[in-house]
Amino acid sequence: MVWRGYINASISKLAAIPAKESTCHVTANAPVCRSIPAFLLLIALLTGCRPEAPEAETLGYSLHYEGIMGTVANFTFYADERTARELGDATMEVFEQVNQRFSTYIEDSELSRLNASAHLAPFSCSAEMWELLVLARRAYAESHGAFDISAGPLMRLWGFYRKRDSVPSQAEIEEILQRVGLDKVIFDDDARTVFFTQPEMMLDSGGIAKGYALDLAADRLRELGVTRGVIDLGGNIRVLQDPPPGRDHYSIAVRNPRRTRKTIGLVPMLDQSIATSGDYERYVMLDDKRYSHIMDPRTGYPVEGMASVTVVAPDGTLSDYLSTAIFVNRGGPYIAELLRQYPEVDVLVIKADAGGQLSKVTYGDIWSDVMEPEQW
Ligand code: ADP
Ligand code: MG
Repeated sequence: MVWRGYINASISKLAAIPAKESTCHVTANAPVCRSIPAFLLLIALLTGCRPEAPEAETLGYSLHYEGIMGTVANFTFYADERTARELGDATMEVFEQVNQRFSTYIEDSELSRLNASAHLAPFSCSAEMWELLVLARRAYAESHGAFDISAGPLMRLWGFYRKRDSVPSQAEIEEILQRVGLDKVIFDDDARTVFFTQPEMMLDSGGIAKGYALDLAADRLRELGVTRGVIDLGGNIRVLQDPPPGRDHYSIAVRNPRRTRKTIGLVPMLDQSIATSGDYERYVMLDDKRYSHIMDPRTGYPVEGMASVTVVAPDGTLSDYLSTAIFVNRGGPYIAELLRQYPEVDVLVIKADAGGQLSKVTYGDIWSDVMEPEQW
């Protein structure tokens, strides 16, 4: 196990049990950081199996890793133990490479080096960096600026990098907004360089990198001949093209955004990705009020009035970026426009009114099993 040295890893057996007993869970999205409640975001339920059912045929293995991209990873592979461990290593290797390049917490990552110098001279990007930046620029354009990887200075201002206790002043917010906005970044598509027109700008890949990592990992697994299984990186989940043995799809459970140990329904999925952006997993308390980690880069404030947005899409990058973008645009007309562009996407929006009352709106026909808010 290549990663065992520093990433806490464990493995458990998946065994076949009668279909009606169902449910083994692959669990998800528990941030490792102690200050963040280790809540699950999505739980993947592989109908018809559960870990270590006694005297049952072994279907495969589920693997759990901690300390990757500030979160946990869970995989399910329908293979023997040795193969499952090897596939787990191969997947983690992809995640680790993405982290080493795109983390803003690693001082010498390529993204940190870009952030440190792109206001001085155009920064020459690797092919991999350019690929992600192209995706992020497209996301910015399609979301009318709601999804903006240059929101980094806002994350810093609102206390997500260094703790603060009070809400920033309007003057501080306005000052920081001068350093936010992809329209203030010059991308040279021929030279593949990035130049910041303002000092102290900062790109933060947190709203897209996990989904992107899932796609690279799925490509790697396909190269290795793996067509069945589930990979979950901090609640961003990708299910592969073939269903679990004896089933015709995977079932992924969506978390209740308020009673986070509970789920509100199962979603059938095959060869797709799912991601949730929520107000409950990462937040700060300022002047006794909770602020979510998703910023509206146009106002400079954390988004309010949204509990969660879950998106199912053909690939991980799309589901990750869209869940954040819809959260910022607060559903509405933007979704109608987006569904015209991406008819294969399904969306579940859970809003929270000022009194804390939740309401749900669904787009697409895969949410029929999701309960009504009164039942949550
Ligand atoms: P999670 O990282 O919990 O899966 P998201 O995918 O919604 O949740 O990403 C939120 C992260 O994206 C934030 O922690 C921050 O790093 C970054 N971010 C915050 N606001 C924006 C925004 N408006 N556009 C793009 N990225 C953002
Ligand atoms: Mg996202």
